[in-house]
Amino acid sequence: MPDAAAPAAPRADLIVTNALIVTADAGFSVIPDGALAVRDGRIAAIGPAAEIGRDAAEVIDAGGAILMPGIVNTHCHAGDSLFRGLVEDLPLEPWLQTVWKAEKAILTRETTRLGATLGLAELLLSGVTTAMDMFWFPEETARAARDLGMRVATGGIFIDFPGVDFVTMDDRIAAAKDFFAEFEGADDILPTIMPHGTYTVGPDNLAAAKALAEDHGALFCTHAAETVAEQADIANRYGRSVIRHLDHLGCLDERTVLAHCVWLDDEEIAILARTGATVSHNPVSNLKLASGIARVPDMLDAGVRVTVGTDGAISGNDLDMWMALRLAATLHRGATRRADAVSTQAALAMVTREGAAALGALDRIGSLEVGKFADMILIDTGPVHAAPLFDPMTHIVFSTAKSDVRDVFVSGRRVVRDGVLTAIDIGGTLARVRALAPAIAASIA
Ligand SMILES: [Zn+2]
Repeated sequence: MPDAAAPAAPRADLIVTNALIVTADAGFSVIPDGALAVRDGRIAAIGPAAEIGRDAAEVIDAGGAILMPGIVNTHCHAGDSLFRGLVEDLPLEPWLQTVWKAEKAILTRETTRLGATLGLAELLLSGVTTAMDMFWFPEETARAARDLGMRVATGGIFIDFPGVDFVTMDDRIAAAKDFFAEFEGADDILPTIMPHGTYTVGPDNLAAAKALAEDHGALFCTHAAETVAEQADIANRYGRSVIRHLDHLGCLDERTVLAHCVWLDDEEIAILARTGATVSHNPVSNLKLASGIARVPDMLDAGVRVTVGTDGAISGNDLDMWMALRLAATLHRGATRRADAVSTQAALAMVTREGAAALGALDRIGSLEVGKFADMILIDTGPVHAAPLFDPMTHIVFSTAKSDVRDVFVSGRRVVRDGVLTAIDIGGTLARVRALAPAIAASIA
């Protein structure tokens, strides 16, 4: 009880109590019988349930569920969920040509919003509270995220050919600036500049894209070193490997996120470590498209920041960060025959605090600590596959499934309650997607 003479702390808006809290703070502290108080969207207190008490406008008894930070997915194309399962059994290069054909036939602003809502809803329901997303009409993805109540890092797309939206490079720069004008300074949208890759964006446009990002203090994200063919193509064109090329153009720093990085030599890994650029490791996509296995243990040993992404549902068929997390933690053990190649804690960091750091947002999200936004998820520990439960971090990395995510909070707002979205009715979205499916199937016929 507070001292009678001391001013009482303002009442909390929400307290989640009786939870097994995995904070993902710097020491990865775990609070066995914990509680967390939220005030004005931020974490006001966290600690043993007996100390936090229950004085709040709303109290949620977690019933022993795991409370952990919302998952951060650092590479996604949510809108591509419209094309789930459409283009199969091809390696990246012919696969991408078919994907672009389908996208050109189907995507308008309206259908992009539909696909983004579908993909982001899948992410949010599975506990992803922040996603970095690269897609056509990025403002539609930002608006879809806002409707659902989640955070997204997205923004101006750069690609040298006309693309789905049939616009010129000048139009792309103008569109990126419009995006900044609409979303800069928002808590829920992290403006980003997103050139597609070194093989689809020439050196001048890559440098211009990075300059635009720097002008606005924005993030910069591109695909890099995904396949052997891409590395050969860039070496052929510019006489340098992909990472050397990006470094030469001044595109690599702490604000840069590179998706895939499957094919890197030792010096390229050293360049990533020196510049502070982040890798988004996408194991599901890399396996399904037969791209290869990224050198994640070598990157970690070199001090490269490694995070995890799903890529789009057109390559991985769903947006399952739990599958990606488990692969990030197991694949490299098998590939190197070293049981310590990626530790449990390192894997968990990739989808929480490292993901937040990659987006320049570790001061606000990525762990459960006082002062940060209350972006958090409750994981049901009732299922058969959760018994017995000795170590919650081991359970999260190796046993948890997306269907175990029961409740999701963003800035303390419950956006998923008992496995159901609270901000929108997803039924209408599903009906429209299913009605569009025949046209989608016909788009590549
Ligand atoms: Zn991608």
